[in-house]
Amino acid sequence: MKTIHCPRCSKQLNFVGEAGLKPGGQDLKAEVYACPKCGKMEFFAPVEPEVKIEKVTCAACQKSYDIDFPRCPGCGSPNPKMAK
Ligand SMILES: [Zn+2]
Ligand SMILES: [Zn+2]
Repeated sequence: MKTIHCPRCSKQLNFVGEAGLKPGGQDLKAEVYACPKCGKMEFFAPVEPEVKIEKVTCAACQKSYDIDFPRCPGCGSPNPKMAK
């Protein structure tokens, strides 16, 4: 949920719920927020949660780094999960 302020009267918008929209027959989910004061509605596309990148812990220096790094940024040891 976000904190959004009404573009018209600057009141904080209330989260109303999710709505299914079908523009052009295409299924779209939207999060609906409405202004309690003037009734202005805002639609937002739900944002996918950020993808968590798996971490590797370096056996040599115990530094934790992203699994898609070919080498440990701390000591330069090759990433054991990257067999290339
Ligand atoms: Zn408003
Ligand atoms: Zn290391």
